[in-house]
Amino acid sequence: MTPETHLREQVCLLAKSMFDRGLTGGSTGNISARTPDGGLLVSPTGTSFGRLDPARLSRFDVQGRLIDGDPPTKEMPLHAAFYDTRSSAGAVVHLHSCHSVALSMMPDANEDDFLPRLTPYGIMKLGRVKLLPFFLPGDPAMGEAVRGLAGKRSAVMLANHGPVVAGKDIEAACNAIEELEDTAKLAMMTRGMNPRGISDTDVQRLITRFDVEWDG
Ligand code: ZN
Repeated sequence: MTPETHLREQVCLLAKSMFDRGLTGGSTGNISARTPDGGLLVSPTGTSFGRLDPARLSRFDVQGRLIDGDPPTKEMPLHAAFYDTRSSAGAVVHLHSCHSVALSMMPDANEDDFLPRLTPYGIMKLGRVKLLPFFLPGDPAMGEAVRGLAGKRSAVMLANHGPVVAGKDIEAACNAIEELEDTAKLAMMTRGMNPRGISDTDVQRLITRFDVEWDG
């Protein structure tokens, strides 16, 4: 099996795993990964995470030209914005995951620091998460908003829509976006209960110990 064949199967397997666990329903969500030659594999437009076909993923070459497969997701500008501003990005995932969307709608949602500090892995895998405003699906302004962050954030939350996370590889990106959804779920479950989060001192210890990329 070539490295690209393996990557194609990994993309579809991880997407199906997220679909099967209800992390994004219907034909929502999109996913992309860097190929060993510097190109991209991208989930095609209108496809379901539960039924992605490894052979039909949109294939871009290193110049960004579509060379094979079905037409890509209409959220391509969003994915491109992460790859263009973060040289470390090896994969990007976007979900319509319920709890993070719920948290984005709360009147006191923190735009610069969306996720409360509830778990160590929420901090270690995501750094600070930026909450972006509402955009119409497919609006290229979403990509511009990500470019405006100048590569300083690996994770953003699109208000009333869903999270987008970049990782060094496909597994890291999927693990991180699952952590984002889990942390949002904890935040919603404990809302109004005055939960004890992780202290600022311990957040600093985590950042230092695990060399967390932390903007601000
Ligand atoms: Zn979406």
